[in-house]
Amino acid sequence: MIASFKPRARTLMGPGPSDVNPRILEALGRTTIGHLDPQFIEMMDQIKQLLQYAFQTKNELTLPVSAPGSAGMEACFVNLLEPGDKAIVCINGVFGNRMVENVKRCGATAVTVEDDWGKPVDPNKVEAALQANPDAKVLCFVHAETSTGARSDAKTLAGLAQQHDCLTIVDTVTSLGGVELKVDEWGLDAVYSGTQKCLSCTPGLSPVTFSEKAAEVIRNRKAPVQSWFLDMNLVMGYWGGGAKRAYHHTAPINALYGLHESLVILQEEGLENAWARHAKMHASLAAGLDALGIGFVVKSDYRLPQLNAVTIPEGIDDAAVRGKLLQDYDLEIGAGLGALAGKVWRIGLMGHSANAENVALCLNALETVLI
Ligand code: PLP
Repeated sequence: MIASFKPRARTLMGPGPSDVNPRILEALGRTTIGHLDPQFIEMMDQIKQLLQYAFQTKNELTLPVSAPGSAGMEACFVNLLEPGDKAIVCINGVFGNRMVENVKRCGATAVTVEDDWGKPVDPNKVEAALQANPDAKVLCFVHAETSTGARSDAKTLAGLAQQHDCLTIVDTVTSLGGVELKVDEWGLDAVYSGTQKCLSCTPGLSPVTFSEKAAEVIRNRKAPVQSWFLDMNLVMGYWGGGAKRAYHHTAPINALYGLHESLVILQEEGLENAWARHAKMHASLAAGLDALGIGFVVKSDYRLPQLNAVTIPEGIDDAAVRGKLLQDYDLEIGAGLGALAGKVWRIGLMGHSANAENVALCLNALETVLI
């Protein structure tokens, strides 16, 4: 007979998922109630308010999509793009490429702006692309590229898009809760994230927010959204608020308890304090790695504190080191992705994982394993 699955605890310092706060694990186990129960509906309203705080927005159309970050990504693309539209997509890592795939599958055309992996999106190239493509409907970019650890200047890029009357689709899967993100102040239009990174919640939900301008575009589409499940016009029948909520899909009740708790924790700490904690833990990890002679892929000016891509020292067996960290220290760090596979490790300091004990564990373990 197969026994119940009871995994060994690990310390998660990879590119996500991050360590889940025990308060969230406790919340997940609370009694399941109906998805139209008045208590549940009250909690949904609170999730919306808490997400508005996390995203720094007043957008009405703010909710968690009931599926992982990739579904939030897809929700932004399928709702804003129609066949024949044109999108400018910035690629400086794995997730920009995934955006291009989404554009194509919407029957739209992607104009790409490429930057080297490990560098931020270059605003000059974006400006040139916007000038050359006055018919572009959206500018798409990744705020925090998890494959490299580079942060792009979302405020400047969104400003350029606005000057050219272009909407923005912005990936904040790794940035939300970890570094400054101001959806309204920066004028971002369609923004998606994930729960398993700096919110330290379990994977499987994707917070999204749409500006009024984006919501208007969605309401006035010529063709219906090709995805029934992700069509915001339909999802809002359930998430839209007020007394008239109707069944759309069965919400992941307990997963939403977890998200609620993670956002309560973020609110208690305060967004700015959470950003400062990530920066402080990064500084102490960077000092320790420097002492070990391990260098960073990304320059400090635009490096993400929560995703540290470091160069694997010469002659070191990537998989063997990661295997030893897992086996001897129950410590997970991430492998390189795409073009950086085998060349870098990605050490995450995300959400609950961004703490002094984790930094010390990682540095001690690496020092011992690398001797
Ligand atoms: N975008 C970025 C920048 C990510 O890092 C990830 C996941 O790592 C995703 C999108 C996709 O999220 P998920 O794996 O939750 O579908």
